[in-house]
Amino acid sequence: MSRLTVKDVNFKNKKVLIRVDFNVPVNNGEITNDFRIVSSLPTIKKVLKDGGSVICMSHLGRPKGKVKPDFSLKPVQKRLGELLDLDVKFVDDCIGENAKKMASELNNGEILLLENLRFHKEEKKNDLIFSKALSELADMYVNDAFGTAHRAHASNIGVAKYFDKVISGLLLEKELTYLKDKIESPKRPYTAILGGEKISGKIDTINHLFEKVDNLIIGGGMIFTFFKAMGYGIGNSLVEENKIELAKEILEKAKATDKVKFYLPEDVIVADEFKNDTNYKTISIENIPMDKIGLDIGEKSIQKFSNVIKSSKTILWNGPMGVFEMENFAKGTEKIADALAKSTKMGAISLVGGGDSAAAVKKLGYYDKISHVSTGGGASLELISGIELPAVAEISSK
Ligand code: AMP
Repeated sequence: MSRLTVKDVNFKNKKVLIRVDFNVPVNNGEITNDFRIVSSLPTIKKVLKDGGSVICMSHLGRPKGKVKPDFSLKPVQKRLGELLDLDVKFVDDCIGENAKKMASELNNGEILLLENLRFHKEEKKNDLIFSKALSELADMYVNDAFGTAHRAHASNIGVAKYFDKVISGLLLEKELTYLKDKIESPKRPYTAILGGEKISGKIDTINHLFEKVDNLIIGGGMIFTFFKAMGYGIGNSLVEENKIELAKEILEKAKATDKVKFYLPEDVIVADEFKNDTNYKTISIENIPMDKIGLDIGEKSIQKFSNVIKSSKTILWNGPMGVFEMENFAKGTEKIADALAKSTKMGAISLVGGGDSAAAVKKLGYYDKISHVSTGGGASLELISGIELPAVAEISSK
């Protein structure tokens, strides 16, 4: 059953409520990464070009149901206006008299941004009265907020009740094409690389991918829980004591199958302290000293992982290989990004999950060399774990 998308609809003379994901990092009123705003532009432009008007709604951060100026979407109004080269109107509450008035006065070709949805606790509670109030601002509803598609909130679930149709935005479609359709029937060899801080948030992903991929590569802080499970000393490295049994189970599973090749690093970079300016060296995983802390994968591991990546046709990556925020421990992440970029150039499909992996790819300058970098952190992880996202289930069929 195919989804109804904005491409299938003409929005002429329509007021269109679009749930976007403008949850961007803001520092002292300045947006430090506008990737999500830029990614929302195609859908907004399509509605405006058809001769409709746009009402954008989003959350930003976690204001916990209270009006907190630090979480205002005001900085987004400015950036969105610059990107569209249009005057973006702004209303200081997403519901209520002002919102109603400004929405009703909106002309075709104009755009209005509502203040942070999460200034109301009803948003996260998926409250129907709140949903109804949002729906009354417009004639049609589009969901383009991939980053929140794994949540069941008023602006992406409740609101759907009050419209005939839920139309999928172009960003949501792109995310689903890459992170669902393309990996459901992947070109092989299919390799997944998982990194980041902990096993706990990614265990379902690891288990699901075990059934799907040809190669599963593990890096990042979570390797030390595996090493401990294997009986190695890990010094002061990050460990999840309560996940050691789980790590053992995964290692057993890896041993028992010849369908999936399971890779852990052979060497790591260990440091004296958890900071950039400290002594560090590369060491094999059997020899981690008691007083050291592992912060990146080593050169041999980089080589081995890169070779696997370069011989793959579909590559999925979620989670950095080391503490990439610190220059001395960013090399593993950078080299893996480089291997992905090279494979992509040779025709492979490369997919990077959102959150920290997307931030790393951007910081290291590999954004344009990857087939698709997701705008969603949790949503992309759930999708690649085979979970149906609640907001996607709401989208109407054609
Ligand atoms: P996640 O959100 O689970 O993808 O984790 C991303 C975070 O994991 C980043 O902030 C990295 O700095 C961190 N990380 C990666 N490798 C390590 C490591 N060896 N020790 C501690 N933290 C790490």
